[in-house]
Formats: sequence, structure tokens, C-alpha cells
Amino acid sequence: MFKKKYAVFTMDVEAFSDTECIANYNKDVNLDLMDGFDEYIRILDKHGIKSTLFTVGSLAPKIINRLKSCIDNGHKLALHNYTHIAPMDVNEDTFKKEILKAKNSLQKLFNTDIIGFRAPYFSLDDNRLNILKELGFKYDSSHLDFSKARHTVALNLKGFKEYSKNIFRCGDFFEFGLSKQKIMGNAYPISGGGYVRLAPWGIIKNVINQYLKQNDYYVFYLHPFELTSQKIPFLKGLKPYDQYYLQYGIKSYGKHIEQLIALLKNHGYSFVTFEELLEIIHKDSR
Ligand SMILES: [Zn+2]
Repeated sequence: MFKKKYAVFTMDVEAFSDTECIANYNKDVNLDLMDGFDEYIRILDKHGIKSTLFTVGSLAPKIINRLKSCIDNGHKLALHNYTHIAPMDVNEDTFKKEILKAKNSLQKLFNTDIIGFRAPYFSLDDNRLNILKELGFKYDSSHLDFSKARHTVALNLKGFKEYSKNIFRCGDFFEFGLSKQKIMGNAYPISGGGYVRLAPWGIIKNVINQYLKQNDYYVFYLHPFELTSQKIPFLKGLKPYDQYYLQYGIKSYGKHIEQLIALLKNHGYSFVTFEELLEIIHKDSR
């Protein structure tokens, strides 16, 4: 239990071509939709909210100025793998080498400590989680625990104890779970991504509202393309679901995120980065 209620806004900072259906598409789609990143930061800045930015290591040098100016303004940089591949698709040795390469390169580029990780596709097991611990990370935020998610392997979190609802601790390392709420008896992710954007807003807003009333910790995540003002082209040959995933709800997402921020404020939530939340936990446990 926290003494206050906390909301953490995060972005998985990746190129549009990292989106799963685009990565698997048979032609190169070189669209720069990073204006969605700028729009996200604009919305947060307007409300004085700082975000944790889980960034793909190999993308960081290409958007260095954007990231530098965010860091200068108090946003925090964390890691979203070196390239956007599912950690469970590579062996543990490769995973370790890539993570170390990415961590060192980000630390050098931005002169800041990288202590947080989120796995692409939330694809992470306990062994890989332990590798993050070994490499000096202080937290991970990949625990979605939703069996219907593609790629996702449930973390067993062996050796972890629940510090607070959906936050788990092992020594000085933390796993920050993604928020879920029951809809008709089944837990549904309400932390953002397609789960929030594609759902009917009137319904998902009520579900989030119920959750916020009952809890004291909420996490939101999204991707740059989800706030782009550019038109995402209709790509021939993509499955109907993928077309829908790439198009639906993008125009109104900014407005919905502002409504979500208002909802959080009404429920008395304070906005923090994961890095700040770690400090709060250490202070609270003293
Ligand atoms: Zn990702």
C-alpha cells in the first residue's frame, strides 16, 4: 500500500517499422511517425507530467535531439531492447549481450543511468529477468499477465514478494506490473496500447474509472504511431485485424488521453516516473 495514489505514464519508443505486423510485412515501410512522440510529450508537458521512455537502443541515435530535450525536461530514459525483437525469440546469451550493448550505448549517449527495462511484446521469463538484475537494472515493467496476448510468457516471479498490489520486489529489484481490471469476470489490460485505443471509449473509460477508485497504482503505455497526425496508408495484404490495429482510434487518442489524465487527477493520483516511484518506495520502506 502506498500513502498516496500514483500514475506512471510510459511510452515504448520504437519506429513504426517495429510494429509487429509491419515488421512481418513483406515490403519495407519506411514511414517516420515520430510526430506522435512529439504530440505525446506536448500533451504531458501541458499537464506537467513526466514520462518514462522505454526506448529501442538502436533507434536512440536517430532521435537523439528529441530524447535529449526530454531528458533535460525531467523525462526518464529506460530500455526497450537493443532492436525490437521479442527477448524470448533469442537465447539467453544473445539477450544478455544485446542488453549490455544497449545499456552502455544509451548511458554514453545521454550521460544518464539506465535502470529500467520493458520487453518488446512483454516477452520475458524469469531467467531473462534475472539477467537484467545481474546487469544492474533496478526494475522491469513487462508483467502483463494476460494469456490472450501474443508472445507474452507469464513471468513466474519466483523469489519475488508482492510489495504492493501488482508491484513485486526481489531484493532491491522491482517488477512493475501493467494494470488490469475485471470486465464480466475476466481481467482485461487497461494500461493502454491497443487494449485501450481499440476498445469503445465510453466503456473502457468506465472500467478504468472503477479501477482507479479501488487502487493506488496505475500504468499507461503507448507507441509513437498511436498519436501521429499523418495518415497511415492502407497496406495491401495485411490481415483485417492488423489494418484495424493500425488505423482505429488514432485520431481521437490524444483527446482520450487528456480525458484519462483528468480522470486520474479527479481520483487524486500523482504522476511519477518509474524512477521516482522507486525513490518513493525506498523512502516509504525506511
Ligand atoms: Zn515495443
